Amino acid sequence: ATPTSIMVGSGRAAQMGILFKEGKFLEILGKCKIVIMDKTGTLTNGKPEVTNIYVNRLSENAFLEIVGAVEQTSNHPIAKAITQKAKSKVHFLPRVNKAVSMPGYGVKAMVNGQKVIIANPGYYKKNNIFIPPQADSLVYDLTEKGQTVMIVFIDSRLAGIIAVADEIRASSIVAVSRLKQAGLGIIMLTGDNRNTGMTVARKLAIKNYQTEVTPQDKERIIQQLKNQGNKVVMVGDGINDAPALASADVGIAIGTGSDIAIETGDVTIIKGDLKRLIDAITISKKTMTNIK
Ligand code: ADP
Ligand code: MG
Repeated sequence: ATPTSIMVGSGRAAQMGILFKEGKFLEILGKCKIVIMDKTGTLTNGKPEVTNIYVNRLSENAFLEIVGAVEQTSNHPIAKAITQKAKSKVHFLPRVNKAVSMPGYGVKAMVNGQKVIIANPGYYKKNNIFIPPQADSLVYDLTEKGQTVMIVFIDSRLAGIIAVADEIRASSIVAVSRLKQAGLGIIMLTGDNRNTGMTVARKLAIKNYQTEVTPQDKERIIQQLKNQGNKVVMVGDGINDAPALASADVGIAIGTGSDIAIETGDVTIIKGDLKRLIDAITISKKTMTNIK
């Protein structure tokens, strides 16, 4: 494409809230046949809300103080939801030491001399930590509904379970179906639990998906597809999938209202609307065919 056609194309895209960082991405996008999508914040709102809290031994408020304090150290959307819930119920969050975030799993820290772990079921499985059957079946029921579940351990004992729900965006359903119609392959990758991911994928009619993948796994999967000769687009919210966005042929960061990770990604879709991806692809194809 000529510099002029690129300029015209990026200008039209910008008017629709699609920002191409460099002309070359406008040239590549229309040639990509595979679109990888993150779940949280991309296909869903990225604004999870706490729906259920189950406590073991502690009072709900004592539990919320501890988990709220620990999650305050994390900037994950789930952490924000939990902290917000805690602050709405208790006046004061205790001090936290040695907070460690475990990407793809959760967060841990010391609170009042106690060791607190807030993590997904996959973390406990991986570390061979036993979850009592009653708690396990609760987790199963919640994830079956598409909710994301965190299990909390305090000093090596089950202290409670927190479930959050993150709505699928109406625009995602339309966008996925149109992308499929356009002949693109769609793959959803999520760090979320197997059941939760499966439910969301089913609601979106996405057949190819992988769950419980870490940010590094996402990057590796993209690299593999590229090595097989595919041109790959990755769409993410940019909060924790920067490595995956960087490894794709075109990394697209999608804004979720207030948070837009413009720094990551070759293309930014300002408003969190996946339908703009279809517009971006159309503009890219036109740019490449109209003027050689
Ligand atoms: P996604 O691919 O859905 O964006 P992430 O890699 O961001 O997933 O997170 C994967 C999972 O790790 C989340 O679904 C959640 O269970 C867990 N997780 C990550 N960070 C936190 C946190 N701060 N608190 C609780 N759970 C977390
Ligand atoms: Mg994410």
